[in-house]
Amino acid sequence: MTRPLDPRTRMIHDGTDRRAFGEMSEALYLTQGFAYDSAAQAEARFDGSDPGYVYARYGNPTVGMFEDRLASLEGAEACFATASGMAAVNAAMFSQLAAGDHAVAARALFGSCHYIVDTLLPRFGVETTLVDGTDLDQWRAAMRGNTKLCFLESPSNPTLEIIDIAAVAGIAHAAGARLVVDNVFATPCFQRPLELGADLVMYSTTKHIDGQGRCLGGALLGSAEIVRGPVLEYMKHTGGALSPFNAWVMLKGLETLHLRCDAQARSAEAIAAHLSGHGAVRRTLYPGLADHPQHALAMGQMTRGGTMVSFELADKEAAFAFLDALEIAKISNNLGDAKTIATHPTTTTHQRMTEEDRLSLGITPGLIRLSVGLEAPDDLIADLDRGLAAAGSS
Ligand SMILES: *Cc1c(COP(=O)(O)O)cnc(C)c1O
Repeated sequence: MTRPLDPRTRMIHDGTDRRAFGEMSEALYLTQGFAYDSAAQAEARFDGSDPGYVYARYGNPTVGMFEDRLASLEGAEACFATASGMAAVNAAMFSQLAAGDHAVAARALFGSCHYIVDTLLPRFGVETTLVDGTDLDQWRAAMRGNTKLCFLESPSNPTLEIIDIAAVAGIAHAAGARLVVDNVFATPCFQRPLELGADLVMYSTTKHIDGQGRCLGGALLGSAEIVRGPVLEYMKHTGGALSPFNAWVMLKGLETLHLRCDAQARSAEAIAAHLSGHGAVRRTLYPGLADHPQHALAMGQMTRGGTMVSFELADKEAAFAFLDALEIAKISNNLGDAKTIATHPTTTTHQRMTEEDRLSLGITPGLIRLSVGLEAPDDLIADLDRGLAAAGSS
């Protein structure tokens, strides 16, 4: 048997579909459609007996290369790329649920995912239950005869809570439901939900996979039965396709994903250790730190603590003083970017939640979420110290 190739090698080559000119860099097929050789071939494309492309809403060669390369990284049978992460979440839910079904999700969710589960699905007759994702008894108690789907993200945004993916997959499957995991914070480099029992993995490729803040994109990965079945059917008719240009940018992003994620995680580890010893910081949340409440679980299902660090300052005034004193890190709300980004969830990404809901998730007015970038770690630590000095004297 030949030795299996390391993912770092596969991300440089897999999915490449080299055509007429033997081009080295993957071609950008900026085309909506495809000309057929004959009327019979057009007929065969439409009835599926000829597997060639028909229309870019559900298939394009550049998008296909991106899907194949990402599927190789994830170890998934199939991938469907979408216009954004939210298009992927939407497809995961609406392609698999119908009126009368029930879905269960962890309460600590990305804001728009929360909106789909809590507001949109009930509007279409799907009952939903939100649970504390870290409490397996709540998952068990929430299961009903008509539960079809469970949804979670781990680590969660922005408090970096860890949910036991294998355990929730077991509970979901025992109830006849499927598990969808939003793996954006962990990245495909550090966590493999399909191996832990998840049925579908979702990415906002806007984040680490682009990694340079250029394009929106998303993806769903899992078995061919689900991805080439209900997901493809839904996407084909509802139009959330990834543009070929964005797919091309992200295909190149995959070539450097491991390098970037490793470097960003290494800096995040150093920054988390630094913050946890700093007098102005009340609490540092990082799954890779030994004092994280679920450190053992995190290290059991992730290979590293990831590129995100959250921490708590005294109050909103201290948080704003910290942010305004930063010179390298940018105040923004993307994550996974080469540029370090600091976010104040209470007043931005989680502003629309009630204060009670925020506090129940641990989103206090002093909480800062940091997406650690590719700058030199010593420069970042000096920048954070500048912010912390300002926070301490606010
Ligand atoms: C950004 C993000 C999404 C949504 O992705 P978009 O590409 O912005 O639509 C979903 N989940 C998590 C955890 C995210 O960070």
